[in-house]
Order: sequence, then structure tokens, then C-alpha cells
Amino acid sequence: MLSYQHAYHAGNFADVHKHLCVYSAVNHLLRKKSPITFVDTHAGRGSYPLAARETDQLQEYRSGIERLWKERHRLEDQPMLAEWLTAVASLQGGENGDENLACYPGSPWWLGARLRDQDRLTLFELHPGEHRHLAEQSVVSHGREGQLRRVHGDGLEGVVKMLPVATPRLCVLIDPSFERKDEYLEVVDTLKQVLRKARHAVVMVWYPLLPAGRHRAMLDALEASGIRKIWRSEVSREPPAQATHGMYGSGMLVINLPWGLDETLNGAIQRWLPILGPQSTHQSSWLVEE
Ligand code: SAM
Repeated sequence: MLSYQHAYHAGNFADVHKHLCVYSAVNHLLRKKSPITFVDTHAGRGSYPLAARETDQLQEYRSGIERLWKERHRLEDQPMLAEWLTAVASLQGGENGDENLACYPGSPWWLGARLRDQDRLTLFELHPGEHRHLAEQSVVSHGREGQLRRVHGDGLEGVVKMLPVATPRLCVLIDPSFERKDEYLEVVDTLKQVLRKARHAVVMVWYPLLPAGRHRAMLDALEASGIRKIWRSEVSREPPAQATHGMYGSGMLVINLPWGLDETLNGAIQRWLPILGPQSTHQSSWLVEE
């Protein structure tokens, strides 16, 4: 049963971490002209109004996007973070940089915002209600409806079935809700299949850092999988030892990390940390090197 709805968590610190990573990975990939197929296996919606009942209920965006948004005119020293916030601003519909923060973009928007004529995007969403939102939101297509596919179905099975893709390059975001414990190992299984068929694919995986440490089984299985070039970035809001319940941190894996992306992201995240909170930390390293 699917009960998770991302609208309750939209714009939280984990979304900021994940979408900074997605944004800069896309930036790096667009430096070359050759066509790319982007795939979002767990798409959610294109954008989330912050005043919506669900989002307003938990207000997780206040410690995520809102804190960073308030600092946006003081980030000239960190061009990547400033540029990322300009992208968020472009969705608000205001003028002269005086926009109010009214909505927060989901991963379909981040992946689709800069599609070129030669690129494609496939979005999978399994929840019927969430898929309806995705299908109805024009913000998802950026006017490039012909290059976009929205699939109501399982993204882990779906991405494997669509391989090989017609373009020379592939970039996949895997962002499950991890409602079931099994999902951690299902992700590893999917990664093995994807990378067997598309060895050079750039694949990003988001995972939560929880006191139960469930992500460790996924990382152990990946280390043993034979997959190479796995980079990991983990942002914690509080020391793990102090965390008793809820998500204390956010993790991202990037497989086949584009050259220089680690440096770009480390710089942006380091600048974000004091804004996120006094106990925040960031660790990045190779889980498996080349
Ligand atoms: N990627 C989104 C973003 O960054 O804005 C958030 C996605 S949310 C964490 C996970 C989404 O995956 C939910 O909308 C959920 O309904 C959907 N979902 C759950 N299991 C799925 C599956 N097997 N295939 C496709 N979508 C799934």
C-alpha cells in the first residue's frame, strides 16, 4: 500500500540536499552536446504550493528551503548556491527578485527545466493521485511535452525495461519513499541491472539517515556489488548519537560521478550548513572508487 505523500515534506532540508545534487549533476552533464535521457523513477509532483494543507501541516520547508531563501541575496560568494536559488525564484512568478516563496519545485521540474532539443525525460510515479497531479501540472513539461513521458507505474522495474535508451547518455534519479524495509535492497538490485545494461549511466540515489540505520544494508550491498565509482554525500542536522527518532540526515549517492561535481557540491553544501543549523555537518567520500 502506498501511503507516503511527498507534499507533507516538500522543501525540507533533504529536498534541498537532493535537488542541489540533481541541479549540479545536470549542469555538469549539459556541458557536452550529446543527447541525454533523464529518468526519474519516483517522480512525485512537479511543484508543491507551500500553503497546501499537507505541506502547511508539518511546515518542514521552514528549516529547509525557507532558511536558505531568506539568505539568497547574501550568497554572491557561492555562485552555485545563488544560481540554484535563482532557479527556485524563476518558479515563483514575481518580478525583480522580490518574489515571495510560494512553491517549491519537485524533481520532475529540476530534471526537466533545462532539457535541450536532443534530450528526453521519463517520469515514473506509482501512486494514482500523485500521478494525476504530475499529469495535470503544466509546469512539469517546460513547453517540451513531446520530449516527456509520464508513466503511471513502478519506476524500479520501469527503468530497467526501458534500457537500452536511444541516446548516448543516461541520467537516472532514484528517490524512493522507503516505506518498506525491502526497498533498500531493491534499489541495489535495480542499480546492478541498470549498470549492466548502461555501464556509463550517471545514477543518483537518495536515502534517509534514520536512527535505525537501515541505509547501511544498502551501502554494504553496494560495496559488495562490483559497481565502481560510487560517491556519497551525507548531510546531518544533528549528531547521529543524539538522534532518537525521525530523520536526522539525508544521503545521496552518485554513481559515475561527473568530473568536478564533488568539488562543486562540497562548496555549495559547506556554505549552506551554517544556514541549515549550528549542529549541521556534511561528509562526502568515495564509497567505492574507480
Ligand atoms: N522525487 C521527488 C522529488 O524529489 O521531488 C519526491 C519523490 S517521493 C520521495 C517518492 C514518490 O515515489 C512518491 O510520490 C510515491 O508515490 C512514489 N512511489 C513509491 N513507490 C514507487 C514505485 N515503486 N515506482 C514509482 N513511484 C513510486
